[in-house]
Amino acid sequence: MNLTFLGTGTSTGVPSIACDCETCLSDDPRDKRLRVSILIEHGDKIILVDTSIDFRQQALRAKIGRLDAVFITHCHVDHVFGLDDIRPLNFRYGAMGIFANDTAWSDLRRIFQYVFQPTHIGGGLPLLIPHTIQHDAPFCIGDSLEVTPLEVLHGELPVIAYRFNDFAYATDLKIIPPESMDGLRDLDVLVLDCVRIKPHATHLNIDEALAVIEDLKPKRAFLTHLNHDILHERDSKLLPVNVKFAHDELVVE
Ligand SMILES: [Zn+2]
Ligand SMILES: [Zn+2]
Repeated sequence: MNLTFLGTGTSTGVPSIACDCETCLSDDPRDKRLRVSILIEHGDKIILVDTSIDFRQQALRAKIGRLDAVFITHCHVDHVFGLDDIRPLNFRYGAMGIFANDTAWSDLRRIFQYVFQPTHIGGGLPLLIPHTIQHDAPFCIGDSLEVTPLEVLHGELPVIAYRFNDFAYATDLKIIPPESMDGLRDLDVLVLDCVRIKPHATHLNIDEALAVIEDLKPKRAFLTHLNHDILHERDSKLLPVNVKFAHDELVVE
């Protein structure tokens, strides 16, 4: 399995508009962060997690040629507002499956009403096959990719963390309920939310993220959804050896 970080930034992206802090002015490419999204390649399957607001730029940069399915963590702008840009893939390959929980679907159907209840004449719309997923109801993509959706809480909002075999992606969360913690054990790689150094109302900060990693003990962990408080080179010294800040275009096997 190959994991590609398409974006690792918080909702504003980094650099942040009109900011002249050290990170926003940094020349280090690891301090340039598009909005969070990952691409998973396993066997002949290519899976996207979240159609970030930067999806078009990310797809061109990563040379995405095809997608088999899209998984949505939750319906916030930074995670879904690139949905319309999957159309060029639909034009080539037809409709694709899109997976989300009930909460996300009620917002997706409202925000993207022109997609799910089309009234206009003519084509040009995203072609999506909706699937509703339930917490802890695993299913398979192809014959060897087991997907286990696990519910986590982003403030009050139920968000889906996805486990794919021995890899898991858990972003935009403040609380991981005990049954979801159990679903995140024995991992090779965990990608975890870590918005900044200071505490945050709806995201893990660095100390909370490291405490979760200490409990779950994945072989390796990567922190994502990073804001401009985090300067990659300087703040990497705060991390234990098996934990790294993710950066855009990083590929992990
Ligand atoms: Zn987010
Ligand atoms: Zn800044």
